[in-house]
Amino acid sequence: MNLADLTWKGVEEYLKKRGDIILPFGAVEEHGYHLPLSTDGDIAMAVAEGLSKRCGVLVAPIVWYGVCNTTRVFAGTITVDFDSFKTYATDLLTSLKNSGFRTVYIISGHLGGSHVSALKEASRSTDLNVLFFDLTTVKSDDILETLPFHACEAETSLMLHLYPEKVDMTLAVDEEIVFDKFSITSSVKQTESGVWGCPSKATAEKGKALFNRIIETFMPAIK
Ligand SMILES: [Zn+2]
Repeated sequence: MNLADLTWKGVEEYLKKRGDIILPFGAVEEHGYHLPLSTDGDIAMAVAEGLSKRCGVLVAPIVWYGVCNTTRVFAGTITVDFDSFKTYATDLLTSLKNSGFRTVYIISGHLGGSHVSALKEASRSTDLNVLFFDLTTVKSDDILETLPFHACEAETSLMLHLYPEKVDMTLAVDEEIVFDKFSITSSVKQTESGVWGCPSKATAEKGKALFNRIIETFMPAIK
């Protein structure tokens, strides 16, 4: 159930019954040779729609652009400045509040450090009840063989389950995640392909199990 598909009268009727809404965030960001730039937004929208289907909660249109510092050197990655993004997110939350919403669930498919900080700071600056559904908190070590990071086993498995037509596994390469503990600009060393992790281990079955786990993890938080 998408906010933008309703009339303003339809939204008024919804708000008489409940005051919550999901606000999804994606990114336009490289995801290796085998996944499209839309990966983070695709996953966020699938989770939002999965929760909406089960809980009847409304989904706001996705915000496609975010802060992508580590991957900005790759062609096609579009990034916005931290302060612009934080201001924009604050404006969206304020407008949802003025519209009559009282609780906002944020789902971000993109989990870069600055991007998430901006979303959390924006949330704190409003008096809305904002819940951040953090995909990194979902238990996955019993489903995946390798650490989730970027264009990795986790994201590739989710995409193979949700949008197999968007994945080209013949082009998937693995690259080791090398943490740079002394760097303050990026927690990881740059890769050649744009992958941090092991997409070769990805399967649609793992993606299905992980997707169901994500839904089960966040569903109880929606009232
Ligand atoms: Zn991603």
